[in-house]
Amino acid sequence: MKNINRNLIRKSFCALGTYNTIQTFYPIKEQILDEAINTVLRIHNRMSAFNSESEIGKINKFAGIKSINVSKNTFRVLRSAKKFSKITDGAFDVTICPLTELWKIGRGENTVPTSSEIEKALSLSDYRGLILNEENQSAFLKKAGQKIDLGGIAKGYAADEVKRILIQGGVKNALINLGGNIIALGENFDHKFWTVGIQNPLAPTGEFLGTLSVSNKTIVTSGSNERFFIKDGIRYHHIIDPRTGAPAQSGILSVTLVGNNSMEADALSTAAFVLGLEKGIELIQKYGYEAIFALENQQLYVTNGLRDQFQVCS
Ligand code: AMP
Ligand code: MG
Repeated sequence: MKNINRNLIRKSFCALGTYNTIQTFYPIKEQILDEAINTVLRIHNRMSAFNSESEIGKINKFAGIKSINVSKNTFRVLRSAKKFSKITDGAFDVTICPLTELWKIGRGENTVPTSSEIEKALSLSDYRGLILNEENQSAFLKKAGQKIDLGGIAKGYAADEVKRILIQGGVKNALINLGGNIIALGENFDHKFWTVGIQNPLAPTGEFLGTLSVSNKTIVTSGSNERFFIKDGIRYHHIIDPRTGAPAQSGILSVTLVGNNSMEADALSTAAFVLGLEKGIELIQKYGYEAIFALENQQLYVTNGLRDQFQVCS
């Protein structure tokens, strides 16, 4: 154990509305980790919908008025967010913000909006209103009141960026965890695959459904346990079904994707949660991902490709 402590380096920081950690081993130049953390902070500053001066904040502020030039990174995420909105037929919707702002899940208010409030927000949430101009890297929302929310995809992008920086800096083994968007690089200290716990969505943090043994993979979870309130026995959580304007009632409690690209997995896990088990499996397998679905009926569904790697907790 002593040995492990001496060689392990673990950095934690808050960004993207969540708690993040990067673990790796010496020898490593500490500036590589600083660069990775600064990159995540920069992504946060550019892509937060809460800050009206961020790039996304400005696109939202000038909806229906004018287009806004954005950085390469933000454009890349917007392009991908729009692509997944289209591919999922709007189950993932990059313009979900009027609805997420209305529900304010996880911000302590715990009130259910009226149906007319939902109707109004629904009329603004439509990804087809996001116009991207590749030539000058600008973005424009067609209707006044439309707003972008990258909460379902930005953590994945940030995790991919951390991975890129670590690899460029010569790091071969690391565990990156940006609020549940995980990338396991190489091996752990014992030269074995990393073991990643999959949270039981109905239990306190740290109680797992099972563990995954992984190397060079991303593991991304969308769960109704991450931010929610309970009123009159109903769990109102933070993943909104853009068809109803309310928290998705798809029979899923959490869905965990395993694959290669964290940004892609992030968008797909949010979409799979909205679509439910059957359509969710079809979607994620089409893009080469494996998954663990925890269902409301207490069943676990694990895709074939994970059967050897996933160990259920007894
Ligand atoms: P995740 O944990 O990746 O599933 O992301 C959930 C977050 O994505 C929420 O907190 C919202 O910010 C945003 N979101 C909620 N519903 C949707 C949706 N249907 N499409 C896109 N983003 C969403
Ligand atoms: Mg997501």
